[in-house]
Amino acid sequence: MSAPPGEIRQHELMQSMCRIKNEMLDEDEIEMEESDDLGKCAVSQQDLNELPRSKVYKNSVCPHVFSDKIFTVMDAHGRVKCPQPGCNKMLSRNVMSPMSE
Ligand SMILES: [Zn+2]
Repeated sequence: MSAPPGEIRQHELMQSMCRIKNEMLDEDEIEMEESDDLGKCAVSQQDLNELPRSKVYKNSVCPHVFSDKIFTVMDAHGRVKCPQPGCNKMLSRNVMSPMSE
């Protein structure tokens, strides 16, 4: 049972092509995350892309993200309307979570 040399080479080629494909997919995912522009915090006007992700908060009711300054407003008012213009979702501490620990 020995495969012709050409067949072995093709098999190896397929394997390395699969590997390259997987590596490219991985890079795509990382690139998408990096190119994700967070924009400015509607509360503090800070550029969220310059803050560590642990200080950038997303929430479970709308797609908007804010710096931890959102909590200053929440502490003063309890629930707050999403500060993003045009968004009327109500935000409170229990819906907020940092983008990373
Ligand atoms: Zn919002």
